[in-house]
Amino acid sequence: MNKNLLLLSIVVPVYNEEEVIEEFNRRLVNTFSKTDIKYEVIYVNDGSNSQTSKILRKIADSAKNIRLIELSRNFGHQIAVTAGLDYSSGEIVVVIDADLQDPPEIILQMIDQWRNGYKVVYGIRRNRKENIFKRMAYYSFYRLLQNFSKVYIPPDSGDFSLMDRQVVNMLVAMPERNRFVRGLRSWVGFKQIGIEYDRDERFAGKSKYSLSKLFLLASDGVVNFSITPINMISNIGLFLFVSSILAAIFLIIWRISNFKILGHMPSDVQGFTTLAVLLLFFSGVQLLSVGIIGQYIGRIYDESKQRPKYIVENELGFSKSKNNLIFGDQRGAQEVKTSGEIL
Ligand code: UDP
Ligand code: MG
Repeated sequence: MNKNLLLLSIVVPVYNEEEVIEEFNRRLVNTFSKTDIKYEVIYVNDGSNSQTSKILRKIADSAKNIRLIELSRNFGHQIAVTAGLDYSSGEIVVVIDADLQDPPEIILQMIDQWRNGYKVVYGIRRNRKENIFKRMAYYSFYRLLQNFSKVYIPPDSGDFSLMDRQVVNMLVAMPERNRFVRGLRSWVGFKQIGIEYDRDERFAGKSKYSLSKLFLLASDGVVNFSITPINMISNIGLFLFVSSILAAIFLIIWRISNFKILGHMPSDVQGFTTLAVLLLFFSGVQLLSVGIIGQYIGRIYDESKQRPKYIVENELGFSKSKNNLIFGDQRGAQEVKTSGEIL
């Protein structure tokens, strides 16, 4: 591989990061200033407030290799990453958060591993500097996912990663809308390796992941990558079905023979409590099951609508700027891209 041809795209999803983004850009640019790596930075403005948007435009104006995609509203982190991947043209692509929790300097180590032949190099968080509740939630989520999913999704790896063009092209070609990028990244296979790093605290600002957004991400992770929840329902259902038949046979025999159990005859009017409890229990199980099935149906519904994944309002700094409104899918469906010289 000719070193000078190496073109790295760095995809940075940004949502209301006015306190961090300039510092982030400085550290990122600094990281590469001592190298001869040719790179582009693609900021994806995921419907941020005007302050962040203004700063991003300024940053994009400051250098030719810094580009900006502005989405027409907040589409969420995973979709913003997807948009960035669609627009990337580097031989390798790095996805990194804008809040400096993922140190940009690690990218150089990732590139070394790529030179060693790995197609995906993902960051593994050695320790998290987040509150205990969030840490516990993450811990259980990744273990649950590992048990459920047939695809090996490395625990404690986030979206911070380097991907070879071949992998990126696969991701870009995937039409699904409920995206769990780190899962898809594992699903494609190829030679993958993790690099451990300390996940810093946010440089400034608050996490843009609310509890509900995190929950949605987690359920995308589980439901998109396994049918274990459906199998569990079937198993519980089978168990309940068999036990209720046994119970029914017993009750009928009891009624007919009218023998005493613990001093009770079936003809005594009793057992309202039991019935009520049973009724509640079974309707609970049923509702839960219907809920889980609903998760899948909801996703089938989403996918079947074939909506664009995102809508780009503006593109800044790209050489082949087209019309103002570009649907993500049209861009994604383009010919397989090769490493273009666009600097
Ligand atoms: N982000 C985004 N859209 C969103 C939420 C977050 O583009 O709807 C970006 C955010 O600006 C940051 C990255 O995704 O660069 C990760 O978000 P955050 O740091 O809030 O997540 P956490 O690190 O707390 O999991
Ligand atoms: Mg963060």
